Amino acid sequence: MTTLTRFAPSPTGRLHLGHAYSALFAEQQARQADGRLLVRMEDIDTTRCRPEFDHAIIEDLEWLGLSYEPNIRRQSQHMDDYAGALATLHDMDLLYSCFCTRSDIRQEIDAAGYAPHDIPSGPDGPLYPGTCRNLSPSEQQDREDAGDSFALRLDMSAAIKVGGPLHWTDRAQGQMTAEPELFGDVVLARKDTPTSYHLAVSLDDHLQGITLVTRGEDLFAATHVHRLIQALLGLDTPEYRHHRLLTDENGKRFAKRDKAQTLAELRNQGESPDEIRRTLGFEP
Ligand code: GLU
Repeated sequence: MTTLTRFAPSPTGRLHLGHAYSALFAEQQARQADGRLLVRMEDIDTTRCRPEFDHAIIEDLEWLGLSYEPNIRRQSQHMDDYAGALATLHDMDLLYSCFCTRSDIRQEIDAAGYAPHDIPSGPDGPLYPGTCRNLSPSEQQDREDAGDSFALRLDMSAAIKVGGPLHWTDRAQGQMTAEPELFGDVVLARKDTPTSYHLAVSLDDHLQGITLVTRGEDLFAATHVHRLIQALLGLDTPEYRHHRLLTDENGKRFAKRDKAQTLAELRNQGESPDEIRRTLGFEP
């Protein structure tokens, strides 16, 4: 099977050195296996993604000389695919509408009276306390009919029963047992956009035939949820390779707000693509 990797930036800002590392890592993994690299724009967040950043990212990748396939998938153009997956999960009775605001969730957690260090939490913070899971179908319908905005959450314990015990392989860490329960009832369609990172990424990796997902280790735990979504929807399971996160000289992770380390700025300062590749530990 030909190796197919992907670099999947969100066009919410200019690329910085951390992104360049991630893109070059994906390219290196593809090259070493005589495979190919795809680029995917993860632009489902309509409030933060902008076309000018999409163009700027392509400009930066071209300048860097990244070898990638010409067909770029833009998630915002594939909402029908995500709607289809949600319809399947809905038919399996694994989704429920959640009307809670952030402050509703906070109040519910406060009302439960946990000591601060005992609040049930997962990799993304406090777990959703399940308030809307207990709404009856008619209560849900009434609130939807009243025009209250809602997200769709996965009923995690029901989903795990359907999915059964699952495993996935990280090339650096070996075989992992999937622990999606760590995340609780994750949002699969947000109030402001009819999909979510977890759903879109799992479906796209399958639809694009990705065989090796390379990404930063900040997303390592998210793979537990992706593995479950794959099982529920009958999607292929790629291999994974989570790479280290690049930090600046103070040990801080690069962030989009750090203008100084954007590729555009480094280019303006006269750095060459080869220098950047070498600095990051890749062959020019
Ligand atoms: N779009 C995500 C990001 O920019 C990466 C998602 C992934 O590689 O799975 O952080």
